[in-house]
Amino acid sequence: MRYLVLATATALLGTAAAAETPRVVATVGMLADVAAQVAGDCAEVEALMGPGIDPHLFQPTPADVRRLQQADALLYVGLGLEGQLATVLDRVGRDRRTLAIGPAIAEGTDLIRTDDRYGVDPHLWMDVSLWSRTIAPLAELLADLGCADVTPRAEVYANQLAALHGWVGASIAAIPEGSRVLVTAHDAFGYFARAYGITEIALQGLTTKSEASIADIRETADDVAAHGVPAVFVESTINPRSIEALREALRDRGHSVELGGQLYSDALGDAGTPEGTYIGMIRANTLTITQALGGTPPEWPEPLADWAAQWGLGNP
Ligand SMILES: [Zn+2]
Repeated sequence: MRYLVLATATALLGTAAAAETPRVVATVGMLADVAAQVAGDCAEVEALMGPGIDPHLFQPTPADVRRLQQADALLYVGLGLEGQLATVLDRVGRDRRTLAIGPAIAEGTDLIRTDDRYGVDPHLWMDVSLWSRTIAPLAELLADLGCADVTPRAEVYANQLAALHGWVGASIAAIPEGSRVLVTAHDAFGYFARAYGITEIALQGLTTKSEASIADIRETADDVAAHGVPAVFVESTINPRSIEALREALRDRGHSVELGGQLYSDALGDAGTPEGTYIGMIRANTLTITQALGGTPPEWPEPLADWAAQWGLGNP
């Protein structure tokens, strides 16, 4: 009897504790993962957009809107990334905590200016050092939600990202200088290009709202042919058709370029795989780019050894 009472009390306590676990919904996986790493068990963090979903074109369903409404806090990148979702975020965000991470880390940051109507490139996660600046405001928001002890986890994760940043730079530097050109479908790699010393050539602009035109393809083909690039890349969130059209235009010009592989530009890979994490996404992109362009990636850094072991990954 006494045992039963205790068990019931424990069950009640358990329920109360579970009910208090704050729910955080982030628009894209790259943001959800950083928040989840910092939160540990103290908050439930989920991403609204899964693998392969293009945030520029995302249109929320009624179920998506309900998920946002049921959250205690909303995280989004802003700076025009989420396209049509922005109006919903504005509305739903009025009566709950929200954090637009782009504007939050913009101060003192040299964001890439653009001449489209957005005015700034929103693909901030492509520079690991820049993206690690999201850790502090996320830790602050989680502390506001009642998460104690986020600081040690935030510090561990910041150290991992610092090591990752160095490794990406060393990997790109291992590509023969003349081949350090990254040809992709849309303009998602501007921060990557700037941070790690590679030239970006994109078929389309920053958003994916319109397909590459024949003129875009022709112009890009001339550019790529002039650079003598060995490989071009497709993206997980974008139809590979335009990149195939580019390869064909290059063949017409007597230049054969390889398909270097698929890059994760605006979404993580599948949950339960290394690429379903921010670190794994950047690792996979860097390996794909470095190897396709003729470089040998350096040794995986020691501060990320535990991360790799957790996924059963050896040295690249
Ligand atoms: Zn994009």
